Amino acid sequence: GFCSKTLIFHSLRPPYSLPPPSSQLSVTDFVFSLTGTTAETASFIDATTRRTISYSDVPLIVRNLSGCFRRPPVSISRGDCAFVVSPNSSYIPILYLSLFSVGVSVSPVNPASSIPEISRLIRLCKPAVAFATSEVVHKLLEVGFTNRIIVIDSNEFDSMIRLESNVDDGTTVEVSQSDTAAILYSSGTTGNIKGVKLSHRNLISMIAGAIAIRQARSSQAVYLCTVPYFHVYGFSLCIRSVAFGDSLVSIGRFDLRRMLRSIKEFSVTHLPLAPPVVVALVDGGNADLVNGTNWRSVETVFSGGAPLTVAVIDRFKRQFPNVSLVQAYGLTETTGGISRAAGPYESSIVGTVGRITAHCEAKIVDPNTGAGMPPMNRGELWVRGPFVMKGYVGDKEAINTMVDSDGWLRTGDLCYFDNEGFLFVVDRLKELIKYKGYQVPPAELEHILQSHPDILEAAVIPYPDESAGQVPMGFVVRKKGSNIDETQVKDYVAKQVAPYKKLRRVCFIDSIPKNVTGKVLRKELIKM
Ligand code: AMP
Repeated sequence: GFCSKTLIFHSLRPPYSLPPPSSQLSVTDFVFSLTGTTAETASFIDATTRRTISYSDVPLIVRNLSGCFRRPPVSISRGDCAFVVSPNSSYIPILYLSLFSVGVSVSPVNPASSIPEISRLIRLCKPAVAFATSEVVHKLLEVGFTNRIIVIDSNEFDSMIRLESNVDDGTTVEVSQSDTAAILYSSGTTGNIKGVKLSHRNLISMIAGAIAIRQARSSQAVYLCTVPYFHVYGFSLCIRSVAFGDSLVSIGRFDLRRMLRSIKEFSVTHLPLAPPVVVALVDGGNADLVNGTNWRSVETVFSGGAPLTVAVIDRFKRQFPNVSLVQAYGLTETTGGISRAAGPYESSIVGTVGRITAHCEAKIVDPNTGAGMPPMNRGELWVRGPFVMKGYVGDKEAINTMVDSDGWLRTGDLCYFDNEGFLFVVDRLKELIKYKGYQVPPAELEHILQSHPDILEAAVIPYPDESAGQVPMGFVVRKKGSNIDETQVKDYVAKQVAPYKKLRRVCFIDSIPKNVTGKVLRKELIKM
């Protein structure tokens, strides 16, 4: 509810008691303390290999793996960081839980990252060990990573997780809730990519918040997660599924046909998607494929990470009257989802990203005056709670650009609450571009453009796109005498970045509009 005195919105969700912050507890301990009460029937399922791993075996596998990690030749210990470069598979959540349990922080990255990107992230998080699939391990070798590399799809890894090879020496590692459990990458509200440190406490509160809105059910829930496990959306989901005893189907790299086939084969009940996939489902061009799929088992489709237009929501509701479409909202810096629609009534409210999670306080702040505002007024969303990141890696001051001394995190999103506490995201105030839900920091592309000998100045802005949400568009000022063209500019960028960060539009201009302090006037460019 809204408090007119403090101008703070409080959660309407039932509160959940969190463990005392000072108690020694890893997120893995917390997950397993919940698993005890969940269905025995749940498992990890790999759609490609059809291999399943029962959740009842997971605690033992995690003990085996973490035992292997602590002994030579791997020998990693509390406080170290592990780099993970892999598409989705059942091994990934198991790997995460094992690393958390020994206090090693997990730093998963997009396997599509370019060599310079991987090199930059390694310099940031300084991993003691790296895990990669055989398909992408060459990237680590190319950047000259000299610490131990473990190939996930290898006999070595297979023998580490095998149940009969019980190497548990009975000792445990003390992990504080304030230890860093994960380093995920985000550019925040401005600038280049940064490593977001999430603590065990952050992850525990994320799981606890989801418990509070869990709908009771009589049959086994089966999630098919198409969202990558390296992004906070898939990252939190794959850990949570073990805690809740929801089966989790992994399909590796996303492919619409494979997703549709797997829905039927594994009787999927819940489908967490990124907005472009929802758009693809209602796209007439895919009608044969989509209508040829048996959707009977599907109860809920989740969408998050970027906005969905009301037009797409309407089309979806018409096409899938028996499936509820639930939007969730969050940031890497808030450990993922901090609002979600729960239950039939909430998911019937078109366009909302739901109500804020238990333990969350929120304010709507006038971006010009800094004043808090009541329901039905648009302003920047500020949030506070135990899910707010610990900080950014290697830069103690950087957190101050996003979180104030009272603990309020500025989301950089223009939002409003209605009178029933439903949150609506209207626009993005920050510089961030989202291509198919993936972050594209404009500063990074501008930096690359400006390194071209023929380019005097450049600025990058989001350009609206029906299927991708937004695409990066570059405004380029040529140096005198240069006649560099659009294709040359695009190719120059494409060679240095992951495919989702490619510049998709280019416009040549005479000068970049700036204010008196030299700050690029992005709004002017967007108007142009
Ligand atoms: P990330 O850290 O990659 O999760 O990006 C967070 C940003 O994604 C938010 O600040 C929003 O701008 C955007 N976002 C996430 N979920 C939604 C949503 N459901 N609707 C609109 N924008 C969203």
